[in-house]
Amino acid sequence: MTRSGKLLASARLMEQNKALFRCPICRDALGVDEVKSLLCVNGHRFDLAKQGYVNMLTNPSRTKYDKRMFEARKMINQASFFEPLLVRLSEIISERQESMGNDKVVLLDAGCGEGSHLSALREKVSSLLESDVLGIGIDISKEGVQMAARDDGSNLWCVADLAKCPFADQSFHVILNILSPSNYAEFERLLTDDGLLIKVVPDSEYLKELRSLLYTESERQAYSNEQTVELFKQSFELLHQERLQYKVHLDPVQLEHLVYMTPLSWGADEQQTRQVLSKHLNEISCDFLILIGRKK
Ligand SMILES: [Zn+2]
Repeated sequence: MTRSGKLLASARLMEQNKALFRCPICRDALGVDEVKSLLCVNGHRFDLAKQGYVNMLTNPSRTKYDKRMFEARKMINQASFFEPLLVRLSEIISERQESMGNDKVVLLDAGCGEGSHLSALREKVSSLLESDVLGIGIDISKEGVQMAARDDGSNLWCVADLAKCPFADQSFHVILNILSPSNYAEFERLLTDDGLLIKVVPDSEYLKELRSLLYTESERQAYSNEQTVELFKQSFELLHQERLQYKVHLDPVQLEHLVYMTPLSWGADEQQTRQVLSKHLNEISCDFLILIGRKK
């Protein structure tokens, strides 16, 4: 699809789903204006980019995530690194769809990055439910959202601040929050009363092969998701939690992408990174804790 074709398709999808949006500045309703921007009654305007996403940040932001990292994450996704996790998440959503009491499931991926998780999940859930599913991905990083919109025109993509989500109350049946920070007050506002919050956090064995090369024993032992789980329980009713562990084979090029992708490597210097890559690790541990909650 051409760039202008993408913009038109995305404007059309936004027009169909405009009730989901609200102005992040004045909180009034937004409509699609002249197939090129979202506009509220008070004149706040957010233009659609040619790639088919809308930037709704009210203040410019700077993040640690750069294009190189998102490209690495995309490659790692293509290497099926997250496939068992995504399969399990799509099963969870499908199994619980009935209790959410609706026909068309609307998913929000809060912290979608370069969009691979949401793209895969929308497809998997659609096929399991044999019905149409709409995904909306938001991330504070423009680089990530640009990449997401470039590769997937069937979801809606926004650059937005999680603390000022540009969506109306109770717009989503499922909020996904995968390896990304939470904003429970906003999640509470945005979820329908029967909706699900699904948060994925790393568990203790996640990337342990990298950890053991990059960190000292005491730093490794300090790793725990206990506080994150506690905070989740304070804000939401924890319906279910489960741990998912598996191993992935990666070739040397994929391993390099993994090292660039992971926040673990932020603290590592060039020499340490080279050292990791020279070890020819071919098996990497994945270890996730999936938390499923609903509003209290
Ligand atoms: Zn406004």
